Amino acid sequence: MLWDETGDPLGSWDALHTKLACAGRCYSEFAKPLIGGIYAVRGGVQFNVARCPGFRRFIQLCICALAPTLAAADVDPSELNFDPDKARVVVDDLHRFWKAWDKAASAPDEDRRGIFQQIYFDAASPGLRSFIELRIGDVDRLLSAIDAAPEYYSSLREQTESVANLEALLQDAYRRMQAIFPGAVFPDTYIVMGALTSGGTIDRSGILIGFEMNARGPESPVHELSDWHQRVIGTVEALPVLIVHELVHIQQAVYGRLDFRDLLGQSIVEGAADFIAELALGSHPSTGIHAWAASRESDLWAEFREVMHDTETAGWLYGGSNETDRPADVGYFIGYRIVEAYYRKAEDPSAALREIIEMTNPAEFLQRSGYTGGTPESASD
Ligand SMILES: [Zn+2]
Repeated sequence: MLWDETGDPLGSWDALHTKLACAGRCYSEFAKPLIGGIYAVRGGVQFNVARCPGFRRFIQLCICALAPTLAAADVDPSELNFDPDKARVVVDDLHRFWKAWDKAASAPDEDRRGIFQQIYFDAASPGLRSFIELRIGDVDRLLSAIDAAPEYYSSLREQTESVANLEALLQDAYRRMQAIFPGAVFPDTYIVMGALTSGGTIDRSGILIGFEMNARGPESPVHELSDWHQRVIGTVEALPVLIVHELVHIQQAVYGRLDFRDLLGQSIVEGAADFIAELALGSHPSTGIHAWAASRESDLWAEFREVMHDTETAGWLYGGSNETDRPADVGYFIGYRIVEAYYRKAEDPSAALREIIEMTNPAEFLQRSGYTGGTPESASD
């Protein structure tokens, strides 16, 4: 059953899970954080993914290891799209950024702020509007980031052209996603220039990508950047994998849950996004973590299982710049291995995939996976 914004039922929709549909008015429920997902308003089904602090906290972890301080908020709703060929990659904001850049370069210093404000901020796409609100703040913050790393920002221009074929790459990936998960939702993706604060996030306008956090080239001058930035800034080539990871979170928001508070639930959600990205694209964003963790799996599992029902995720998830002698996000690895065990143990892979996305009970899911800290094959022995 879906409801409109007044709470009146709109009827059932088989593709959607009853318990995830929420009347637009029930934001108090989001505040509990019990519900992730969608609600319906007249004329279309809309995302409603970030109303509550708890849920917001989760969403902020998307594009996860890259930006532990991300946050999402509400933006103009957009209709769900089920056609991978209609999922757009919006790069207009990037081009307007460079237009402002060029105009400011030949203008008096005192005009610079107004130029960026007018050309980049005031004409923002819906995705950039959200990103400004969530992760940039105002034009002064953007200009401060540029002034702290002018050579790096300047180098991003060369990378800008490489996003031209991103839409075709993504549509190809999305078709594969649709093949393994019929009913998948495909929002638009906005590539925007940010203030080095966020790799991206998701919200109702779609998937939002901070270009400057994902456009490192082989010759990029990174000496102006912090150690953490130098470690986490990705490449344009890696964007499809990252975006598909986020796309899985969209499916989880629509069909399952994203608002788990416990370490186990959050780790499974992240591991599922990596696992399904790998099914669709042959790779996932956490390969570095896996390389470190694989040989330590049984010890990590023994450690993880002691704390997995706690809400404290430090040391396992979203450590980002606090990383010490081990990767900050080993929970992604554990979650992946649980999901992998679940998938491999299942007799019907398609059904298993749907169950992974629809997962609402982490403890039960773990139990059914048979995962005990070893390989998926041995887990069921
Ligand atoms: Zn994620």
